[in-house]
Amino acid sequence: MRVGIVTGAARGIGAAIAHRLAADGMAGGVVDLDEQGSARTVKEITENGGRAIPIGADVADETSARNAVEQTAAELGTVSVLINSAGIIRDNLIFRMTTADWDSVIDVHLRGAFLMTRAAQAHMTQAGWGRIVNISSTSALGNRGQANYAAAKAGLIGFTKTLALELGKFGVTANAIAPGYVETDMTMASAARQGLDYDEWKSAAARDIPLGRIGKPEDIAAVASFLCSEDAGYVSGQVIYVNGGARS
Ligand code: NAD
Repeated sequence: MRVGIVTGAARGIGAAIAHRLAADGMAGGVVDLDEQGSARTVKEITENGGRAIPIGADVADETSARNAVEQTAAELGTVSVLINSAGIIRDNLIFRMTTADWDSVIDVHLRGAFLMTRAAQAHMTQAGWGRIVNISSTSALGNRGQANYAAAKAGLIGFTKTLALELGKFGVTANAIAPGYVETDMTMASAARQGLDYDEWKSAAARDIPLGRIGKPEDIAAVASFLCSEDAGYVSGQVIYVNGGARS
């Protein structure tokens, strides 16, 4: 049984990916700052016949990131899959963005992905098989009010492409998924911050999307499932946009 770790898996896209990988037959470390949320995801996975353990951890903290990987390996076996999905937003126009807004977003997305990947790749390279999937965003192409987030998500793409170059010879692939708008607490908070009703916000967003709706967490999980499969063994260093066909 393959063993994977999904960060930010207490809810939203991370939780959907954890559920999907469990359904695919993988055992998993469900990592999140929100320990209760992790436990909730694990309970649902277990009730559906899957195997998972909850791990409360801050991915941006070196020790807790390392411990999350080691605990998963100790309890479930060699870690060969890592999904970096933990994330936060601290949106503001550049002139209002505080240094703390900048640092916290860069820390969770970039430092977090780096720390988790550095710890997990040691297991993958030793096993000669691995899959790393980083959740970037269409915001990597630039998005008003998100200088910090866009920089972090663009950084994750360079990070992913470098992992593909360095780890390919060990049978480890690294890819990024760049979702457009997805229906989660994150977009709900974003709409609320702009003073918009969520349903109206979703309808407005959907008007610019060829497929006529914003994404569901399961849409992203399906692509993550493929990228973690045996079948995706020759796909590496890629950015897969999952955005309903929108231009950006
Ligand atoms: P979400 O807010 O619903 O979930 C994010 C999860 O990450 C939460 O459970 C949170 O507790 C956890 N988290 C935050 N900081 C953490 C830390 N330091 N350590 C461990 N866990 C931490 O968000 P979501 O919409 O599910 O987003 C998941 C990922 O997808 C994020 O990286 C986000 O940037 C990305 N993304 C989301 C959208 C979207 O429209 N929702 C679009 C593109 C990309």
